Amino acid sequence: MQTFCGIAASPGIAMGKLRIIDRRRTVVSEYIIPSDTVSHEITRLAQAIDDTRIELERLKSRLAETNGEEHLFFIETHLMILADERLVTESAEIIRTGLINAEGALRRTLHRYRETFASIDDPYLRERISDVETVIERVLRNMSGEPAEPFPEHEAQTIIAAHDLSPADMLQINRKNVLAIITEIGGRTSHTAILARALDLPAVMGVEGITDLLCDGATVVVDGLSGGVIIDPDKETFKLSLRRKQQYEYVESELLKTAPLPAVTLDGHVMHLRGNVEIPEEGASVLAHGGSGVGLYRTEMLFMNRSTMPDEEEQLDYYRSMQRAVAPHPLTIRTLDAGGDKLLEGMDQAEEVNPALGVRAIRLSLSMPDEFKKQLRAILRASADGPVRIMFPMISGIEEVRKAKTFIEEAKKDLTASGIPFDNSIQVGVMIEIPAAVTLADLLAREVDFFSVGTNDLIQYTLAIDRSNEQLSHMYQPLHPAVLRSLRRIVQAAHGAGIPACLCGEMAGEPLFLPILLGLGFDELSMGAGSILRVKQILRQCTLEGAARIAEGCFGYATVAEVEMFLKSQITLDVAESID
Ligand code: PEP
Ligand code: MG
Repeated sequence: MQTFCGIAASPGIAMGKLRIIDRRRTVVSEYIIPSDTVSHEITRLAQAIDDTRIELERLKSRLAETNGEEHLFFIETHLMILADERLVTESAEIIRTGLINAEGALRRTLHRYRETFASIDDPYLRERISDVETVIERVLRNMSGEPAEPFPEHEAQTIIAAHDLSPADMLQINRKNVLAIITEIGGRTSHTAILARALDLPAVMGVEGITDLLCDGATVVVDGLSGGVIIDPDKETFKLSLRRKQQYEYVESELLKTAPLPAVTLDGHVMHLRGNVEIPEEGASVLAHGGSGVGLYRTEMLFMNRSTMPDEEEQLDYYRSMQRAVAPHPLTIRTLDAGGDKLLEGMDQAEEVNPALGVRAIRLSLSMPDEFKKQLRAILRASADGPVRIMFPMISGIEEVRKAKTFIEEAKKDLTASGIPFDNSIQVGVMIEIPAAVTLADLLAREVDFFSVGTNDLIQYTLAIDRSNEQLSHMYQPLHPAVLRSLRRIVQAAHGAGIPACLCGEMAGEPLFLPILLGLGFDELSMGAGSILRVKQILRQCTLEGAARIAEGCFGYATVAEVEMFLKSQITLDVAESID
C-alpha cells in the first residue's frame, strides 16, 4: 500500500483500476543536419541524458522519502540504462556518420535495442525493452515536445493517472468507464479541475511522480475531498474508504433535498445563486441543485476537439437547448474564451511563448470578425425564446468593450434585415478579470449592463500566480488583501453606476468566502452546480448586516493569514459546521 497527498480538485471518492496514460509522448522527426553542427547535436543529446538523470535522481529521493521503496528498483533500473555508455556512443556515431539529428539518432538506437531484446529467449528479460523505451522517451521529451495523441478509450471502473490532462482531453473522457482522475500537475482553478467538477469526476492533482510508479492496473482509491490517493490499499483501508464514500454520498443526497429552499439571508436579503456550465447536461443539474439560472456558460467547449468552427445553426441549437433547460431563469452566455490553456485545433496558439498573456478570449474573437459575428447572431437568436445575457471575457479597456459592442449592433442589424427575432434589449456584461479592468471599473460600468468578476483569472493576474501551477497553489490566495480591495472597488463601481455586480470565479463556490462576498455587496454568485447547495446553506444562516461587518473587518488586516484567522473567528459554530 502506498499513499500520496495532492490537491483536492474535484470532490467525491472513487475506487478502481489505475490506468496510467502518457499524454506527453514525443513524436520525433528525423532530418539531415549540416556537418558543422555534428558536435552541437552530440552536446544536445548528452545534455538531455544528463537532464533525465537528474530528473530520475530527484524522483528516487522523493520516493525514498514518501515510503515508495518498492518502486526504487524501477528507478534504479532506469538509471542503469541511462548510464550505459552505448546509448551515447551509438547515437553519437549515427549523428556523425549519418548526419542525422540527435532525436532521430536516438530513435535509431532504440530500434537497435528492440532488435537485440527481441532475440532474447527469457520472456522476462525480453520484456525489459519497455524500460529502455520509457527511458528513451524521457530523454526525447527533454529534447523536444510534441502534441498529445488522441485520447484512448478505457474499460469500466478505470481511474486515469496522467502527467497532465488538457481541457480537450477531459471532454473526451468516457464518464461511464472512468471513475476519477489523478494528475501530476494542475491546480484547483485550472480548467481541467473545473471540468472534472462539471463532469462530477473526483480528481486529485499535483501528485508528483504518480505516472512513474509502473503500477498500471493496481487498485487505487482517489479521495477528491482530502486530496488523498492510495495505491494497493489493504483490506482495512479499503473498507474505511468505502465507508467514507458512502457517508459523502449520503450527505450529498440529504443536501439535494434542500434545493427548493430560497437563497435568502436570515434578514430577508435575496442573493442570486446561479450555475457555471460547460457541457449541455449541466443545465438541468444547475436547477436540480437549486440554482436560479446560469451565470456563466463557457461556450469554448463546443469549439474544442474539432478541426472546424461550429456554424451559426449548430451554435444556435447548442445555446437554445441550454436556454430551454434553464428557463425561465436567465442564461448568461460568455463569448468564446479560447486561448491560454484552452487551445483550439488548427490555431497557432500553442506556439505562443506566453499563452496566458496571448491572443485569447475577446482578443481572439475581435481578430476573427466573421466568427465573432456568427457567435453573436446565434446568441441573439437564442434570446428570442427567453432571458439570455451576453458576456465578454478578458476585457482590458474601454475601446475593447466598445468595439465588441459594435459587433452586437452589426449582428442585430443582420438579423433584423432577415426578419429573424431576437431580444433587442439583451443585456450585455463584461468579465472583470484583468487588473486594468479593476482600475477602470467606474468607466467600464457606464458601458455595460452588468459586471461579472472572474476571480480565477483576476487572482492569477493580480498576484502573478499561474492558476494551473500546482507548485504555487499555496500562493494563489483569494483572501489576499490586494484581491479583496479589488473586489470592493468593483462592487462600488458597479453600484455607483446602478448595475449589478456578479462573481463567477471559483471563489463564489467556497462556502467560507460567502460572508465576505455577501458583505461586499455582490448581487449574484455563479459557481459549479455541485457548490450551490453548500453556499446556499451558509447564506441562509447569515444576515446581510453581519456579513457587511465581517467584510469590513477583513480590511483591517494586512496579511492573508490575519484575514483568514479573523474570518474564521467571526463565523458562528453553526456556520462553521456547515462549512466543514
Ligand atoms: C474566471 O477567470 O474566474 C472565470 C470564471 O473564467 P475562466 O475560469 O473560464 O477563465
Ligand atoms: Mg477567466
